[in-house]
Parts: sequence; structure tokens; C-alpha cells
Amino acid sequence: MDSKKNVMVFIESRSSKVAEISLELLSAADRLAKELGGSVEAVALGHNLEEELKVLGHYGCQRVYYTDDKRLAHFTSIPYAKTVVRMIKQYQPGIVLFGATTMGRDVAPRVASALKCGLTADCTDLQIGEHKIKDVTYENTLMQIRPAFGGNIIATIVSPESVPSMATVREGVMKMMLPDANKTVEIIPETCMIEEDDFLTEILEVVREEKQVNLKAAQIIVSAGMGASDAEAIALAKDLAKVLGGELGCSRPVVDSGILDKDHQVGQTGITVRPNLYIACGISGQIQHRAGMSEAKRIIAINKDPLAPIFALAHYGIVGDVKDVLGKMIKAYKTKA
Ligand SMILES: Cc1cc2nc3c(=O)[nH]c(=O)nc-3n(C[C@H](O)[C@H](O)[C@H](O)COP(=O)(O)OP(=O)(O)OC[C@H]3O[C@@H](n4cnc5c(N)ncnc54)[C@H](O)[C@@H]3O)c2cc1C
Repeated sequence: MDSKKNVMVFIESRSSKVAEISLELLSAADRLAKELGGSVEAVALGHNLEEELKVLGHYGCQRVYYTDDKRLAHFTSIPYAKTVVRMIKQYQPGIVLFGATTMGRDVAPRVASALKCGLTADCTDLQIGEHKIKDVTYENTLMQIRPAFGGNIIATIVSPESVPSMATVREGVMKMMLPDANKTVEIIPETCMIEEDDFLTEILEVVREEKQVNLKAAQIIVSAGMGASDAEAIALAKDLAKVLGGELGCSRPVVDSGILDKDHQVGQTGITVRPNLYIACGISGQIQHRAGMSEAKRIIAINKDPLAPIFALAHYGIVGDVKDVLGKMIKAYKTKA
């Protein structure tokens, strides 16, 4: 079979667990590979991950090329990048996907540079399409779609003349498929070919700080924008989130002003969320914010400006002062509960 039809995913693991981003990428790879008539494969590195890697099969991965070595138990740039390059050269997939995470952003450019191929960062959509340059038509090309020029345009980027096409994708952007526990993955052991000299750093200890909020998993998010950014309004938004059993989100300027931590930021450069309910409080609704929340099932917008762009997206709009409205909502929900 033509290996160029295959889609390869770089698997990340944290604390010996496959990261969610890898499962999201496999879900996207499954869709792309079906269109190409190829298969989904993965490259994984680490130590004692065999049991954990079985989960990849549930998300449509057919084969995982797994390099097990004690020295790879924790991420280090050069050994990881060199191993991924070797796997790509050996198995020659047409497309390779990485998470736009700290690890993916470190590995992917090194791999692209070593293979002299294109890399599109922070894609928000991936499609298979046709691309024409002068008289040449490239079929089954990866269309790498992402916001550009500060989010003012959506660009489609192609790199048909270099193989593989490589992209990074932000967490939460690709919808994770429902796992099928009956599907299995073939785990193909690979020999670690990394020289001792490639380990330029020695990891002595890993200290992990858990996130205070998990916006990605939240089913209800109450999000504060600059119109709800003073201490009283933030406290009200937090209180409403608590009453509803949800989490507190925010827009980027609220983070940039040091009011809330980056873990709360929704949007193009923050977290992409898909909750059942998103309550946007004092948020104007600029495209960069919408990029992170437009797929919420229900959106309620509270804004004093009836012409605020957020109302074009919201299912329910409340025109009014955010503190008044939040106070009334909290009272109503508390009374109902
Ligand atoms: C490359 C790039 C990436 C970006 N990434 C992100 C991102 O990830 N997430 C993000 O959010 N932004 C992002 N931005 C910024 C984005 O362009 C907007 O500037 C930002 O979303 C605006 O935040 P806001 O709606 O809270 O503030 P504003 O635009 O200032 O809007 C405040 C709103 O509050 C309303 N308001 C004011 N007072 C009250 C009140 N008392 N009661 C009710 N309503 C009131 C106003 O009518 C207004 O609509 C990015 C920008 C760039 C260039």
C-alpha cells in the first residue's frame, strides 16, 4: 500500500499516561486517513508504556511504532526529535501531526528542519483537498487551516512539494471521537538508536504543578471579559460558576491585565472549549475569543452594548449591566436550588 496515504501522529505521554491531545489528533487523523484511503499510525517514545498505548487503538490508530528506553521516560528535545525523524524516514507517511503543546512545539520544528519539509503551526482545521499551481495539480493535499494576521483572516496553507505535510494543532480544537474498546492497535517495538552524546541534559527531578482549572472538561463556563473585570464582577462571575457547578473562564485582556491566570483564558491563544453552556459576561466577542468558544452548545451573552458582536453568536442575549444581571442570576439559581 502507498505509505503516503498514511497519517502519523506524534504521541505525547505525561506521567506514563497518553495525553488527551494525542487522542484528539488520532481522531482527526482517522478522518483524514479515511479520505486518503490510508491508515492511522503513531510514533511513541517512553518507558514501560505498552499497556497504556493500547488505548490508541480505541481512537482509530492501527499501528504504533514504539521506542522503549529508560532514558526516554521523560521528554528531552534532541533524542525525541531524532527518533521521530528516523520513524518518518522509515515509514514515510504523507502527513504527520503534532500537538501545539510545549513538547510538540519543541519537537515539530526540529523534525521539519531535519526533513526539510513544511510545518504549519496552530492549525484550527485540517482538510484534504486539491491544489493547483500553474499547470500542476496536487491531489489529496493537506489543507492546513489557521487564523493569520492577528486572527483577521483564516488562511489555508499547503506544502504539496515537500513530504510529509506537517502541522501542529492546539489542544481542544479537534473533537475527540467516541472510543471503541473493541478496536486494537498493533504495537511495533523499535530499537532506540540514540547515542549517549545526544542526551545533552539529564533530568534529575520532575515537579508537576497541576492546573487549578480544567476548562476543557467543564460543561458549564462563566467567562469574564473586560466589562466584568473589577474585583466585584469577577467575584460574581466566580460565584455564578460555583452555583452552577461550572468553571470560571475569561478573555485574554483579563489575563494580560494580571487579573486571572492564563489557565482561565478562552480563545485562539487560550483554550478551546465545547461546554454545554457558556455565559459570556462583559465580553465583546472578537474573533480571537470566538475561536475558542463558538462550539459551545448554548451561549448566553451579558453586555451593556446591544451592538456587541457577541450577540450575533449568542443563543440568548441579555442587555444590561453585568453586575446587576449576575447578581439576579445567582439569586435566581440559589432560590431554585
Ligand atoms: C493574535 C491575537 C490573539 C488573541 N487571542 C485571544 C484569545 O485567545 N482570547 C481572547 O479573549 N482574546 C484574544 N485576543 C484579543 C481579542 O482581539 C480581544 O481584544 C479580546 O477578546 C477582547 O476582550 P474583551 O471582550 O474582554 O474586552 P473588550 O473588547 O474591551 O470588551 C468589553 C465588553 O464589555 C462590555 N461592557 C463594559 N462594561 C460593561 C458592564 N458594566 N456590563 C456589561 N457589559 C459591559 C463592553 O460593551 C464590551 O463589549 C487576541 C488578539 C490577538 C491579536
